[in-house]
Amino acid sequence: MFERRHFLQSLLGAGLPSSLFAQRQRPPNILFIFSDDHAYQAISCYDKRFIHTPHIDRIAQEGMRFDNCCVTNSICAPSRATILTGKYSHLNGVIDNQVEFDGTQQTFPKLFQQAGYQTALFGKWHLRSKPTGFDAWEVLPGQGSYYNPDFITPQGNKRRNGYCTDVVTDLSLEWLSKGRDPSRPFLLMCQHKAPHRNWMPGPDHLTRFEDVTFPEPPNLFDDYEHRASPAHNSEMQIDRHMSLSSDLKLYPPPEGDKAAGGFLNEYKRMSEAQRRIWDAVYKKRLQEFQARKPAGKDLVRWKYQAYMKDYLRCVASVDDSVGRLLRYLDAEDLASNTLVVYSSDQGFYLGEHGWFDKRWIYEESIRTPLLIRWPGVIQPGSVSKALVSNLDFAETFLDAAGLAVPPDMQGRSMLPILRGQIPGDWRTVFYYHYYEEKVHNVAPHDGVRTNRYTLAHFYKTNEWELFDRQTDPHQMRSVWGKPEYAAVQRQLVGELERLRRELKVPPEHLR
Ligand code: CA
Repeated sequence: MFERRHFLQSLLGAGLPSSLFAQRQRPPNILFIFSDDHAYQAISCYDKRFIHTPHIDRIAQEGMRFDNCCVTNSICAPSRATILTGKYSHLNGVIDNQVEFDGTQQTFPKLFQQAGYQTALFGKWHLRSKPTGFDAWEVLPGQGSYYNPDFITPQGNKRRNGYCTDVVTDLSLEWLSKGRDPSRPFLLMCQHKAPHRNWMPGPDHLTRFEDVTFPEPPNLFDDYEHRASPAHNSEMQIDRHMSLSSDLKLYPPPEGDKAAGGFLNEYKRMSEAQRRIWDAVYKKRLQEFQARKPAGKDLVRWKYQAYMKDYLRCVASVDDSVGRLLRYLDAEDLASNTLVVYSSDQGFYLGEHGWFDKRWIYEESIRTPLLIRWPGVIQPGSVSKALVSNLDFAETFLDAAGLAVPPDMQGRSMLPILRGQIPGDWRTVFYYHYYEEKVHNVAPHDGVRTNRYTLAHFYKTNEWELFDRQTDPHQMRSVWGKPEYAAVQRQLVGELERLRRELKVPPEHLR
């Protein structure tokens, strides 16, 4: 009781009459379930073509689904830094996966901790420096491993047996049941490695989708005509850049494929029992490949099907994880006062434009899944089209907890939206900026996205693209420079210049 009184006092400030404490509800717990590279196309409440994800869907059924949640910079580490700080990459410092996060800066978990919340983080961190602002944490080094992963912990490194998605869930549940003080509210960040490349499924779902043929995206064989040069030059094509051995687990690697390393490192980590189950599935894949000898377009189609099987098997384990966490909240009577979030660090290509990976301002990359459940606040089964972002997560969590949002954060609390009202002055144009050049050869670009248009500026070569997603939902034809779009183009370029200024993008970041 003392703890709780103390907590509420810190929230409400000194000097308020004590009767107010009784009137105020206990602040909500926050359970943030996060995955890596999880495309909204692979969540059935968004898209029913590929997989059924009943547990993730449950968050949407009992809460709100966001259809226009955009990331500030579509890649792992920058997205995580934006979520922690509520700031764009140019202010939090993590412009690409190479930069180390400065853990001394203000983050929302630190503000929660200072206010009396218990804070914990398990799983993928990917920010190079050690986590700060958490009472308890165990994180994967870098990308981490799918099988029997190593963890960095405050007590040193530990190897934990099992499949990574299950292990991260176990750690989260163990902390919920034994690690925390039940008299205080908690913030728990359960952050999966899955379904990141190289898409190594867990033992529970290895044979799933064995006989399924997935529908191909209409632009699997995109030739990038009517686009600027960067789409032509990027290196994320299923055709040319997805390896048969490392990505699709054909081993020994077929002739000409030298990329087995990534797969072998994972394979070597498996126990004999894990390997036996694995081999039964992937030997069959190899035999099928050798018998069929796919080539040309047939090879792309074969790779797409194999890729989708592995990717979706990884997603199935993430869905199991969500199920276990939600069941725990039910069983412990925590569901009614816990805000549950499901999201991913960005979107992902499942063959659209012939691609895997992310990075682009284009839809499947910039848009990330976002589902939020908060009983008594959010109308069950609601859907929001508001243009929200991972930039808004920190502000929303702080606001939900009754904590002040620091003025230097650049996003905005989504609380009114959760309550069913989009504020009249909510953003209708969103600024995006991608920096990393080293991997997959995607040219740095910034731009703006509205709920209809996407404007991209590849500033190193001064090339522009403009997409009207209403008439061209797959973004196959840039209308930049077309006379009928002159007014829209002028307006959006003006918005881009305004947002660069308002968000304090340094001019040297645009060269
Ligand atoms: Ca990612």
